[in-house]
Amino acid sequence: MKILCEVQVLNRTTQANRTPRPVKSTLAIGYKQSARDSNGNTKKELEMVLFTPQVKAGTRYKVRDNIHCVHTKFVLDGKATIGFKQPAENLLIKCDPIQLKGFLQTLKLGMEGKDAINLRLNIANTTAIPQKSQPQLRMTINKRSEYPIKGFPRTLKSLTIRNIQLVKLSFEICTLRNLTTLDVSGNKLTKIPTELGRLPLTTLHLSDNALGELNDWCWLRGSKLRESLVELDLSDNGLSYFPPALVRLERLVTLNLNHNNLSHLPFAIRRLQKLRSLHVSSNKLESLPAAIEDLHIDLLDVWGNCFKGFNMEAARTQVQRLAAGHTPAPLWLQAARIVASHKLPFSESTLPAILIELISEAPKCLCGKLCYALESRDLLKRVTQPKFTNIKNLTYSREHQIYSDIIICGSNCCAYQQLKGLFNILIS
Ligand SMILES: [Zn+2]
Repeated sequence: MKILCEVQVLNRTTQANRTPRPVKSTLAIGYKQSARDSNGNTKKELEMVLFTPQVKAGTRYKVRDNIHCVHTKFVLDGKATIGFKQPAENLLIKCDPIQLKGFLQTLKLGMEGKDAINLRLNIANTTAIPQKSQPQLRMTINKRSEYPIKGFPRTLKSLTIRNIQLVKLSFEICTLRNLTTLDVSGNKLTKIPTELGRLPLTTLHLSDNALGELNDWCWLRGSKLRESLVELDLSDNGLSYFPPALVRLERLVTLNLNHNNLSHLPFAIRRLQKLRSLHVSSNKLESLPAAIEDLHIDLLDVWGNCFKGFNMEAARTQVQRLAAGHTPAPLWLQAARIVASHKLPFSESTLPAILIELISEAPKCLCGKLCYALESRDLLKRVTQPKFTNIKNLTYSREHQIYSDIIICGSNCCAYQQLKGLFNILIS
């Protein structure tokens, strides 16, 4: 008979615990057939074996004439002690009460020399009961043949499926509620299921796929993902524009957009206030939005882009346009400006979503005033040079000056006066 239990071994002579605390063990009892003696008789020897994770082969104890004591007072609580004479050790057993009772009865029968079904175990080569394995937390699939046919363990926290030509992310993956890290780089994904947005992912690696083909970003709007995602890798996906929903991932610290076809970054990027690393190398950027100055980035990598020089045409038209007339800002814009400039607290319960969007994402004039770009002519492409005040580590190709896009709030703004001055210098 074998039982799964917890055992603590105590040496009665030294009073030392061989195991400092109860450990998961298997306790077995049965007869061991001895070799034939000179008369051709075999003797059966009753033995008990204790298997622990430390002693996998088992510690053997003789039972006949070797039992020092058996304490069964707390057997109904699932506790008992069996003491042996040689070695002078006590086994302090914790176990399911019914199993323990059965085991002690079997021991009693054995001691009385009776033959019981429970004793017909070949104790000589018995082994420990396999313990329930630990829940699987990580899985890495590098070959198609490794893809689990019977599904993924529900306990997974981290899943990597790389370079196996995966064309579809299965719905099942989107139901792994414990998943925090997902890496599906180097596949052929064109679409991410909306349901992925319901997972509390902190790290998501999607590099070297084809998400720019369909440009479906619904999954980015998932509330769980928006609240949890810290690291996102969308490099090498053929993206032709910056997915607008990306700026709603307000927890994002690292964003990798290397090796795509982006020609500009949106002003709304200033919403990513936690962002510390922004990788946009090897794209087609012609300029950067002035909003890059509002971020708190430590590392900006814009190496290998197509930055263009000062845009005199844009400056000329803007100076003329703003000089021609001045229209007062609409009331809703004025309200948003007040909230923004006074840094008033707001939340989704106190302000309509459209105003929150305006306050967090709309471009700001160089003077700090919120603007609202109604038409693309409001945006001045490449007319100032960013100072990169907050950026600690900037990587760019030095043969190109980087100019940034700005917006100017009106003809009575100091930024307009500066621009006019600069423009006059340039044309004189
Ligand atoms: Zn202004």
